[in-house]
Amino acid sequence: MTLSALIFDVDGTLAETEDLHRRAFNISFTAAGHEWFWDVPLYRELLKVTGGKERIRAFLDCFFNTTTLDSDGVAALHRAKSRTYERIIAREGLQLRPGVMALIDAARSSGLKLAVATTTNLPNVDALCQSVWRQPASEIFDVIAAGDEAPHKKPAPDVYNIALERLGLAPSECIAFEDSRNGVIAAKAAGLRVVVTPSQYSTGEDVAQADLLIDDLTKLDFEHLFRGQLKSATADLE
Ligand SMILES: [Mg+2]
Repeated sequence: MTLSALIFDVDGTLAETEDLHRRAFNISFTAAGHEWFWDVPLYRELLKVTGGKERIRAFLDCFFNTTTLDSDGVAALHRAKSRTYERIIAREGLQLRPGVMALIDAARSSGLKLAVATTTNLPNVDALCQSVWRQPASEIFDVIAAGDEAPHKKPAPDVYNIALERLGLAPSECIAFEDSRNGVIAAKAAGLRVVVTPSQYSTGEDVAQADLLIDDLTKLDFEHLFRGQLKSATADLE
């Protein structure tokens, strides 16, 4: 089967963004007068819940008996967090994970389509693309499926199904790139093959469903990958 497109998760896959998200949450909590602090071990647990608003709600449901914030309050807090995240990236910059830039460049040169399927929202994807490429996400990716567009977030396959529909391609014509268990489950449920590069926060998760598990994308043989030969796409590093 000819490969036609690559579909990328964003957080943890394109870049190690998760700790920036954690910092943005904490800054926004303080600014809103909440004495909440998400340390690294807690955030690792909270990341099992995909979507920022859903993560705040899960935290409140777990640690508070009363309805501390209604859905409007959670949404407002999450908007403030997203603006904080964008400011952090604009100020500090962001680097792609090893091999990501090379893969995207090679895929584009080979005529493959590029897509994003993420639970993070579009402004966050734009912030990453502006930091790395000085261009909005729509200039880098042919298709973007992001945030609340999907009725059910990962591990549901919805966001991948939306990306496939917009690409006009069958799952067999695409390969997904993920860093986490929830992402792998979502991609597999959409019928995709998945390359997994565990990230700082997802290392150690059960990603047994992955078609290829590698430390980072520098370990990929792009020529094999672009021919759809995933099993032989591990670069010879001798
Ligand atoms: Mg991820």
